[in-house]
Amino acid sequence: MNADRIRENLIAVRNSIAEAARRSGRDASSVTLVAVTKRNPPEAIRPLVEAGAFDLGENYPQELWSKVDALSNLPVRWHLIGHLQGNKARKTAAMVRMIHAVDSLRLLKSLDVIAETLDDPPRVCLQVNVSGEESKHGWDPSSLPIDADAIAACRKIAIVGLMTIAGYGTTNDEARPAFARLRKVRDQLQTATGRLFPELSMGMSGDYEAAIAEGSTYVRIGSALFEGAVG
Ligand SMILES: *Cc1c(COP(=O)(O)O)cnc(C)c1O
Repeated sequence: MNADRIRENLIAVRNSIAEAARRSGRDASSVTLVAVTKRNPPEAIRPLVEAGAFDLGENYPQELWSKVDALSNLPVRWHLIGHLQGNKARKTAAMVRMIHAVDSLRLLKSLDVIAETLDDPPRVCLQVNVSGEESKHGWDPSSLPIDADAIAACRKIAIVGLMTIAGYGTTNDEARPAFARLRKVRDQLQTATGRLFPELSMGMSGDYEAAIAEGSTYVRIGSALFEGAVG
């Protein structure tokens, strides 16, 4: 594990986030980098946090729990970015700042109940499957309006925005239409519910510049940070 390389990667990613924001007339501070640490051990994550990456994302609840434990002495804001099963929701919700991939009304309703029991409940994003096949999780864009009233009725849990995965390993050009679509779906949901959903969690290592151009406020980046440093 090469800690210098991790620090260099972080600086390079932050610079290109800032550059992408500038090109779209946005402030770099409007885009939060979530460093995706899945499959990387605590020793590889520590240098990233020490270099200033305080928002960390994990895909699997059990892997998240063990890393929260292993890195409990660091000032980390944890994000769950993968699928959450109902039976793991209570324990996970107590540990994280944000749950990015709430992918069903059933899970959302159960988080709405859990939120009441927590001092600092997580914020959540609703996952929308804008690209069709790549991910089987999340609302279909056409089914979101059907659930709009039920979504708006969840008032304990803070629904702050929408999330999507354009595809694994997609390029900026390939992914951009999916990001534009998520933004449009968000605007429609705002109109349908009369509520605001300011956050868009979209963009990964290969496509975050396109995501920022389409209004992303959370980019979830893993491989670009660990490239050349592990494995
Ligand atoms: C793995 C993963 C990422 C990070 O992907 P990279 O291409 O490694 O940057 C982001 N979001 C989700 C949901 C993921 O599963």
